[in-house]
Amino acid sequence: MLRRALLAMSASKQVRDLIMATPLTRDVVARFVAGETVADALTATERLISSGRLVTIDFLGEDTADPDQAAGVADEYVRLLAQLSAAGLAARGRAEVSVKPTAVGLGLAEHGEKTALENISRIAAAARNAGTTVTVDMEDHARIEPTLRLVGELRADYPDLGCVIQSYLRRSAADCTALAFAGSRVRLCKGAYQAPDGAGLAGRAEVDRSYARCMRILLEGRGYPMLATHDPRLIRIAGTKAGILGREAGSFEYQMLYGIRPAEQVRLADAGAQVRVYLPYGSDWYGYLVRRLAERPANLAFFLRALSSTR
Ligand SMILES: Cc1cc2nc3c(=O)[nH]c(=O)nc-3n(C[C@H](O)[C@H](O)[C@H](O)COP(=O)(O)OP(=O)(O)OC[C@H]3O[C@@H](n4cnc5c(N)ncnc54)[C@H](O)[C@@H]3O)c2cc1C
Repeated sequence: MLRRALLAMSASKQVRDLIMATPLTRDVVARFVAGETVADALTATERLISSGRLVTIDFLGEDTADPDQAAGVADEYVRLLAQLSAAGLAARGRAEVSVKPTAVGLGLAEHGEKTALENISRIAAAARNAGTTVTVDMEDHARIEPTLRLVGELRADYPDLGCVIQSYLRRSAADCTALAFAGSRVRLCKGAYQAPDGAGLAGRAEVDRSYARCMRILLEGRGYPMLATHDPRLIRIAGTKAGILGREAGSFEYQMLYGIRPAEQVRLADAGAQVRVYLPYGSDWYGYLVRRLAERPANLAFFLRALSSTR
């Protein structure tokens, strides 16, 4: 109920303007976001890599309504990748990038899919030059088919382009089966959006069961699973299953969000697992922040405490 309300709130311009104008919001944002500039992203990336973790960097923004702005987002990624490469952080995929299709034009009124394809292709070429990869994030339900089409087309030129499956949907196990082939990089997450009636699974337990099922399909398959969750139970199941299947530590990775369970990230990395941190930066953090608040009442309490603080 609360989650639904918060996700609906993310679409309200008045609420957005109010929250973005509140100075104390910035303290909360700083917990989940690296900063506003490429330099901030590089500093945080360097720190994470030196602690044994891998990174995927997201330039914040979504639902771009203007083709020039969509091209500008791609330009930003190209600049970011050049700087990661120059700083020696991109080689062997230590730091890669994550791109939201609607940030690079998928939602445009005209030629959205073509625009997003061209922009992601440009980013993927820059990533290849830098010695790293791109993962295409998955957004709301309406974007799933066009996003999977985009990824399918782009993989002809960039076979290491990653995609995302969300376990909160009924279709997810079938999608995982279709994507569990050699070389296929697939991030599995629970899903941060609201599914339309009939498409989504009812309740957390169902979503968790679906996650475990999808994870088994990906680990048993021949691709490269990227298990994105903070859920201790699912992380334990992943480790056990990978061990039973004889999967080498380098043949899959765990992924978590910047600022969430950092001690667990380090513990897994110290134990020899590959752990990648999803690191957002930029000034357009509102949608990202609201999704984090909707996920977990404790995050919301932290936010409300910061807002009511007299400091
Ligand atoms: C790397 C990465 C990439 C993602 N990419 C996408 C994407 O492309 N599309 C998309 O829709 N969603 C994406 N997500 C978001 C994802 O779908 C979930 O909304 C988000 O990860 C929360 O789900 P969870 O698996 O952590 O489980 P939850 O059900 O939220 O939490 C399960 C358990 O994890 C632990 N936990 C969770 N949060 C915290 C916390 N703050 N502190 C301590 N313990 C905590 C608690 O024990 C909790 O009970 C991504 C998530 C990650 C980690």
